[in-house]
Amino acid sequence: MDLKGKAALVTGSTSGIGLAVARALAARGADIVLNGLGDAGAIEDLRATLAHEHGVRVSFHGADLSAPDGAEALVAHAQADPGRIDILVNNAGIQHVAPVEAFPAERWDAVIAINLSAVFHTTRLALPGMKARGWGRIVNIASVHGLVASAHKAAYVAAKHGVVGLTKVVGLETAGSGVTCNAVCPGWVLTPLVQAQVDALAQIRGLDGATARRQLLEEKQPSRQFVTPEQLGDLTVFLCSDAAAQMTGSALVMDGGWTAQ
Ligand code: NAD
Repeated sequence: MDLKGKAALVTGSTSGIGLAVARALAARGADIVLNGLGDAGAIEDLRATLAHEHGVRVSFHGADLSAPDGAEALVAHAQADPGRIDILVNNAGIQHVAPVEAFPAERWDAVIAINLSAVFHTTRLALPGMKARGWGRIVNIASVHGLVASAHKAAYVAAKHGVVGLTKVVGLETAGSGVTCNAVCPGWVLTPLVQAQVDALAQIRGLDGATARRQLLEEKQPSRQFVTPEQLGDLTVFLCSDAAAQMTGSALVMDGGWTAQ
C-alpha cells in the first residue's frame, strides 16, 4: 500500500494507538500532522524521529480538542502544512470511570467534547477539501463501547455510540464521492489510557500488575490477549487502500471476541 503524496492528520497521536497509526501511515509514505498533549521536548523527538525514519514530512500542532476552536486551529494548520488533509484519523480520547449518579458533570462534558464533538468538528472542516479532490479517508477510532456498554463508563459509552452513528451519517453523505468514513472498534489495548484502569483494578483488589492485567482481560476479552496499537495501525492502512474503497459507514471490531459474546 503506497500512500506517498497523501497527507494524514491523526488526532491524539502523541501516545498509544494514535502514535502507532501515525507510524503505520508514515511507513507507507504519507506526510503526517501529529496532535496531542504532552512534554514539548518528547513530542519534538517523536516528530523528528518519524520524519527521519520514513523520509516524510511530519509537523505537530498541540491543539486542545476539548473546544471547537482547537479543532479549527488544528485543521487550519494541516491545510497550511502539508497543505491538505487526505486522511483524517479521529483518535484523541479520554476516559472517566464512575457510576452515573457520581459522574462529575464536568467530566461528562470533557469526554463528550473530546471523544465525540471533536470528531464532528474535524470532519466538517476536512470534508470539503476531500470532496473537491474526489478522494478521502476518515477513520474514527471508536471502541467496542460504540457497540456495547460497560458499567461506570456513561460518558465514554455515549460518546463512542455517537461516533459510530456519526460515522454512518458521514458514510451516507459521502457515498460515491471517493471519500469513505469508517469506525474502528478496538477491545482492550494496553496504552496509558488502559494502564490507568489496570492500576485502579490492582489497587481496589490488592493485586500485582500482571494479575490485574489478566483479570481485566478475562472479564471482557475472550482471547485474553491485548489488541496491539500496531494491529490498529495496519487496519487503518487497509482502510486507506483501494481494496477498502467500497467500505463506508461501517464499524469494524478488533476485539479478541469481546462483542461476539
Ligand atoms: P492514550 O491516552 O495513550 O492516547 C490518547 C491521545 O489523545 C494522546 O495523544 C493524548 O495527548 C490525546 N488527547 C487527550 N486529550 C486531548 C485533548 N483535549 N486534545 C487533544 N488531544 C488529546 O489512549 P489510547 O488508548 O491510545 O486511546 C486512543 C483512542 O483509542 C481513544 O479515542 C480511545 O477511546 C480509543 N480506544 C482505546 C482503547 C484501549 O483499550 N486503549 C480501546 C478502544 C478504543
